[in-house]
Amino acid sequence: MATKKVEILVAPKPAHFVGDGFRVHNFIPSDAHLDMKRMDPFIMLDYNSKFNFTPTEKPRGVGVHPHRGFETVTIAYQGKVEHHDSSGGGGIIDQGDVQWMTAASGVLHKEFHETEWAKKGGIFQMVQLWINLPAKDKMSKPKYQAISNSQMQNVDLEENGFVEIIAGEFNGKKGPAFTFSPVNLMNAKLKKGGKVEFNFPANFNTAALVIEGNILINGAEKVATDHFALFENEGETFTIEATEESVVLILSGKPLSEPIAPHGPFVMNTREEIVQAFADFNNGKFGVLED
Ligand code: MN
Repeated sequence: MATKKVEILVAPKPAHFVGDGFRVHNFIPSDAHLDMKRMDPFIMLDYNSKFNFTPTEKPRGVGVHPHRGFETVTIAYQGKVEHHDSSGGGGIIDQGDVQWMTAASGVLHKEFHETEWAKKGGIFQMVQLWINLPAKDKMSKPKYQAISNSQMQNVDLEENGFVEIIAGEFNGKKGPAFTFSPVNLMNAKLKKGGKVEFNFPANFNTAALVIEGNILINGAEKVATDHFALFENEGETFTIEATEESVVLILSGKPLSEPIAPHGPFVMNTREEIVQAFADFNNGKFGVLED
């Protein structure tokens, strides 16, 4: 098997606020190298790097808004989020947990810092990914997966650390998330000097985001905290070595290779379907959710 090389390293862009609760660096799709096609099925990646929120009685966040045609996946590294949607899904995502919301045919949802956490304030760090749905599943029923940290499968790497699998497979173990297309999503939690090898099909779109620490990819490419490494679609294997204690989010998915028609909170395959999404939203077909 051949080495999968780094195609490009992407530095975090200046942060912007989503609502008043998420201070994010967007990597996908605003970077010139990372449009919605390049990391298909990962069509959006917002990263709230460590940010200190002051205590407040009024939780910060994003109010009621719709989604159709894809899944939103929120990975909480630090802080707590409370979530509600119009299909009845919702709950609290604690530190280390993941919320996997399949908007599919359409939901309204809202995302806020959890009330008690907001009262104390503190360091907040999260990733929100949008994972596209295959055309045949875009109008399926909305679904919600609350994935607690204890449900994730850990692969012990002994003195190197461990890999925590959210979705997909690593070293024969499978993560708990149900996915509509082949998606691998996992955290490599490495000790200083720890090393791990990954192996994904050459055509899968693959990347690594350094959440904590500093790493070397394939023994040569230095990647610092909050930086993103995009891999080539050639070769299968790559290594990650932690030059200090590190956490690295690994993403690898089989491209859907279908047309992408995005518009705001809707991601469909054609413009006609976007027009339909707005019509359905305006006609109340996304259900009801109070502010
Ligand atoms: Mn949303």
